[in-house]
Amino acid sequence: MVTRKDFLKGAAASAAGAVALGMLGSCAKPGSKKVSFSRKYDVIIVGGGGTGVAAALEAAGNGASVLVLEKAGIPGGTTNLSGGVMQASGTEIQKKLTKFQDDSPEKHAALWLAAGEGLVDEALVKDLAAGAPGHISWLSGLGLKFTSVYGHCPIPYVDKGLFADRIHVYEGGGAAGGGAILVQAMLKAALAKGAKIEYDSEVLELVTDEAGAVQGVVVRQKGKEVGIKANKGVILAAGGIDKNVEMAKALNAQQHWDLTSGICLCVATDTGDGIRMALEKGAALEGLGGTIDFCGKTGAATDNRVPLFPSFIVNAKGRRFVCEDATYAYHYRAIFQQERQLGGPTWMVFGQSSIAKVGAPWTPETAAKDVAAKTLLKADSIEGLAKLMGVDAGNLAATLITWNTDVRSGKDRQYDRTTGLSPISGPFYAYKNVPFNLGAIGGVKIDVEARVINAAGRPIPHLYAGGLNAGGWIGPYYPGSGTAIIGLVHWGRKAGLNAAKGR
Ligand SMILES: Cc1cc2nc3c(=O)[nH]c(=O)nc-3n(C[C@H](O)[C@H](O)[C@H](O)COP(=O)(O)OP(=O)(O)OC[C@H]3O[C@@H](n4cnc5c(N)ncnc54)[C@H](O)[C@@H]3O)c2cc1C
Repeated sequence: MVTRKDFLKGAAASAAGAVALGMLGSCAKPGSKKVSFSRKYDVIIVGGGGTGVAAALEAAGNGASVLVLEKAGIPGGTTNLSGGVMQASGTEIQKKLTKFQDDSPEKHAALWLAAGEGLVDEALVKDLAAGAPGHISWLSGLGLKFTSVYGHCPIPYVDKGLFADRIHVYEGGGAAGGGAILVQAMLKAALAKGAKIEYDSEVLELVTDEAGAVQGVVVRQKGKEVGIKANKGVILAAGGIDKNVEMAKALNAQQHWDLTSGICLCVATDTGDGIRMALEKGAALEGLGGTIDFCGKTGAATDNRVPLFPSFIVNAKGRRFVCEDATYAYHYRAIFQQERQLGGPTWMVFGQSSIAKVGAPWTPETAAKDVAAKTLLKADSIEGLAKLMGVDAGNLAATLITWNTDVRSGKDRQYDRTTGLSPISGPFYAYKNVPFNLGAIGGVKIDVEARVINAAGRPIPHLYAGGLNAGGWIGPYYPGSGTAIIGLVHWGRKAGLNAAKGR
């Protein structure tokens, strides 16, 4: 079994020494094996996903010669698979399409900071919120047409006054998918400015000089390891540890749970390579632990325009434990923790009465199909359902009585849920929760200039990171849709600009 300690010791064989060196004034790994460079560019970008192409466009637009190295055969990474929706406050589009006329980056940052539970870097969060509206205009200039703006579901302890409709959707994006539209818009513009992209090119390691400054990369192309020099800087844009079971086990317990018991929808090539390579050069890590999880079966709490259907979530004891209409990754963190604490599954419980509601995720026909496939359990009585679920019948019956009593009075006295408050009657159903994962949160530590920071708190010269390769700008759970995409545009652009300027 690989522990967090073993991983940090092994994958970053240099890190322990680097920390010791850090105490003496330098924390980057001094030097690399001898590498001869076959080519040179000003800026090399590791990964041609969303962050990578945003960085490429900004770097090329600022006069740098740019090479993007992409491990897969196509550009886009997980960004391709996304809906491309992105959060920003105070934009003209928000003013035009919503009732929120006085929203501001300050309010936006205050929400993200509260959701960050003290585990985010305040400077990064404020910088991102301040930059977000400008990115919407920038992307409009690249041809994206923003057509709607909506909000995300509440977070129980966050001041309601901080919420607003901020999730910007462009034509072809959102529920229609369409992340590739965003990638292609940025990539096309970057190529027009002279950036180059090479596919099937897996970057293996960073090359540093004796002083620890990054000089270039080693990449595998056509079965050969090749050194390429970066005159000004290398940008790590290789995504998170999404598909790396070993790194997840060592660094992110919920991601590990997702990879071993759920469904991860990220691309197979996002295996934390950028994080590992930075660690090898003494980088610090930040913000690891959270995930972007949701209920892929029902989409519960992913969108404040869709009321949650009458149902409640119970633990292995048959008791409720979370506000079910709180934003999805918030309630999924609670699901993860309950499953860990009680060593058993959690369930979504509902009734025939719930299925009859308009917009319910199940119809009588699909419910019958799922019962036959054993995805749903069904029983005439709540005690019979408890037996099938293997939970305490008295507890489950009491949970149902409390639910029905509360919703008849119009108030969820236990968790202050506000949507889907209708009585539930049988026959009854239970769906065993399965995490659908859209990525792991956390990565290398960066400052507001997207420079990678070492364990001694200093920038590693000529090394930058952005998107989900970097940590500290999203908290211990994903606060709501559109945070990741705006973040990858922001940190990608910053990294590209600063690498091109050599600062
Ligand atoms: C189905 C789905 C829907 C989503 N919808 C949204 C949404 O609408 N809004 C939102 O904000 N977020 C959404 N997300 C989350 C968001 O898409 C991701 O967090 C984000 O796209 C990650 O961007 P990135 O640039 O950090 O990584 P990626 O876009 O994954 O780019 C990383 C790239 O690096 C490459 N790479 C990896 N290792 C190497 C290496 N060694 N050498 C060279 N290249 C390498 C990979 O192949 C990949 O192309 C969604 C996620 C999923 C799965």
